[in-house]
Amino acid sequence: MHDHAGTQAGSGGCGHHHGPEEALARAEAVCRARDLQFTRLRRDVLEAVASQARPLGAYDIAERLSATGKRVAAVSVYRALDFLTENGLVHRIASRNAFVSCGHAHSDGAGLVFLICRSCGTIDETTSPEVEDQLGRTLAKLGFKPASRILEVEGECGACLERASAGG
Ligand SMILES: [Zn+2]
Ligand SMILES: [Zn+2]
Repeated sequence: MHDHAGTQAGSGGCGHHHGPEEALARAEAVCRARDLQFTRLRRDVLEAVASQARPLGAYDIAERLSATGKRVAAVSVYRALDFLTENGLVHRIASRNAFVSCGHAHSDGAGLVFLICRSCGTIDETTSPEVEDQLGRTLAKLGFKPASRILEVEGECGACLERASAGG
């Protein structure tokens, strides 16, 4: 049994970007628990995604990995991303066709809300039981069975709003 010993963010909320070390450690634990192979490529792809606060596309990732020497094909990156997505280690941001590493230890089927800043491009991930409940009720009423419950909200992040108001 692996325990996600919480690195509790001390100062109210978890709006900060988590580094690749945390993501890699979690991936290792998940793969060990599920008896899955955490191959070199999967690891490299996750590290590339987790080192960025903004979402990365598969071609960006392939380019980054190829820059260190051996050419990595985008199709291999896609396959690694599929694996990482299936295991909840990265999430696909549909509106950007790009990927971010998961910054939380939530359950696989959890409803997620992504806050996408149009100014600086950062993405914050959050879970909202209220939204999940409401959405679940609405979908049930319509007789719709969701394959995923991921919401993407575009706008301005707190840091950008602060910068804007400070600059007049
Ligand atoms: Zn997540
Ligand atoms: Zn911003």
